[in-house]
Amino acid sequence: MTDRRSQDHDDERVDRPSAEILALRQLYEALDRELQAIRPVCELSGRCCRFAEYGHSLFVTDLELQELFLRHGPPNEPIGETCPYQSSTGTCEAREGRPLGCRVYFCDPTYQSVMPELTEQHHRQLVALHERERVPYRYGEFLVMLASNSST
Ligand code: SF4
Repeated sequence: MTDRRSQDHDDERVDRPSAEILALRQLYEALDRELQAIRPVCELSGRCCRFAEYGHSLFVTDLELQELFLRHGPPNEPIGETCPYQSSTGTCEAREGRPLGCRVYFCDPTYQSVMPELTEQHHRQLVALHERERVPYRYGEFLVMLASNSST
């Protein structure tokens, strides 16, 4: 997907990722395949990205932020209470690089019994990936991490 942020990204670094970024992409792809089998419904309400409004928090690691910035660049919008990658129509402008927490979260009621274990399982894999690739594990609230890692 090409969006207004990815126009500025470094294609060379996207296409030739470091070992840890490659491992992260593989983890995301495996999760996406599992979700394709489960088929939770997304009605594109965009609620999951309006954190304060819906009392929802998103946590990410530094490595996930690196991948997000690599693909989409830092946010153009000021950091507020809503994800700055959410478009004015409520869709995600960072689909390819969005963090694990975004990928695994659906508000489909039929999926709620599956989501906690699926989240835990993949989070454990994310922690293991950091250990295996010897990447410092820094995990924090998304908007706080964004604010401390971008100039906006
Ligand atoms: S990165 Fe995309 S899916 Fe995740 S909170 Fe932001 S707009 Fe929503």
